[in-house]
Amino acid sequence: MKNTKRKNYCYIEPKISVNVLESLAVNHHEKLIFGSNEKVGLKIILAIHDTTLGPSTGGTRVALVSEDKAIEEALRLSYAMTFKNAIIDEPFGGSKAVVIGDPTKPKSKEFLHAIGDFIESLDGAFLTGVDMGLSLEDAKIINERTKYIFNSKGCSGVTTGHGVFKGLKEAVKYKLGKDNLVGVKVAVQGVGNVGGTLADLLIKAGAFVYVSDIDPTKTKKYLKLQNAEVVDNEKIYDTECDVFAPCAVGEIINDGTIKRLKCKIIAGGANNQLEDEVKHAEQLHKIGILHAPDFAINAGGVCHGMCEVKGVDISHAMKETDLIPGILRKIFERAEKTNIPPLFIAYEIAYEKIKAKQK
Ligand code: NAD
Repeated sequence: MKNTKRKNYCYIEPKISVNVLESLAVNHHEKLIFGSNEKVGLKIILAIHDTTLGPSTGGTRVALVSEDKAIEEALRLSYAMTFKNAIIDEPFGGSKAVVIGDPTKPKSKEFLHAIGDFIESLDGAFLTGVDMGLSLEDAKIINERTKYIFNSKGCSGVTTGHGVFKGLKEAVKYKLGKDNLVGVKVAVQGVGNVGGTLADLLIKAGAFVYVSDIDPTKTKKYLKLQNAEVVDNEKIYDTECDVFAPCAVGEIINDGTIKRLKCKIIAGGANNQLEDEVKHAEQLHKIGILHAPDFAINAGGVCHGMCEVKGVDISHAMKETDLIPGILRKIFERAEKTNIPPLFIAYEIAYEKIKAKQK
């Protein structure tokens, strides 16, 4: 990634329909690769963002989207992968593949083999795993044609949840000056793999959790717990609390929700929490809500995914999540010193690691 004079490294949305090659230059992507197999109807688009730190890694997803949208997704998500890997010192670059197709329709063996052949043809330049629209069963079939798809051992959400818990604790220490979580009120949006792990750890640590989920089966167990309260999905933004922990979908911090938040800290596992990274990071900073940058606090996910690639035991990933509090403290301290939003600082620190490797 070339040095630039930009104000921050938040992702800039390129205008793909105007000029595809210029879209690559906007955020310094190295490659955009198109694959097609007419016989089986495969259309695949792979973006490789930056390989300074090592071979590129990123999921392969199947989505029923237009070609422009698929390029947009591949560019944006591969960019995020570069920074996710860099912030936690994983020796990999960022990439993402989007297969254009209906994820709800069954995929033939030939179709999955064609995906495998595409990945194999890149000779290890793209190391991938399953993402939306692709199951572990699909990955096993793709694996018959390539060794570069990793089926991920166990649930990465648990590792991610542990990392978010450690990061949240650090944010509480930094902002509220509290060494423990006893009596700290946390609103957790989404109690799936990541949010559920986080909520359970918080309760164990003596915090009080408010939980919300669009799936009532996920919140049921919290109805019976003393240190928990189930909150209506929409009301979670209005809940008076110390920490808001988004652990469901992205872009939930936006013009509509920022003014409703009654928390001092945002620290959760969801990806792309801010709808407009520049504008909303600046707004949160201005109103004094400490935001733990998502790609730093949820880095346990990449640590988990990379274990298989690196050939190490999964316990290694859990150990790596111990790095998250230190990374966040560095981000918070520099953000305070420079009066720059923590998200911009997180990008800056990750970028410095890439730059250092280039020398
Ligand atoms: P999950 O599907 O296990 O859980 C998500 C939960 O959110 C589900 O229970 C779902 O019902 C709920 N939900 C969906 N929309 C909601 C809404 N609008 N309001 C409230 N609840 C809603 O997924 P997960 O693995 O726990 O991932 C959660 C988030 O963390 C996602 O944004 C994901 O991209 C991010 N993330 C996950 C990992 C990982 O390793 N799993 C790593 C990094 C980041």
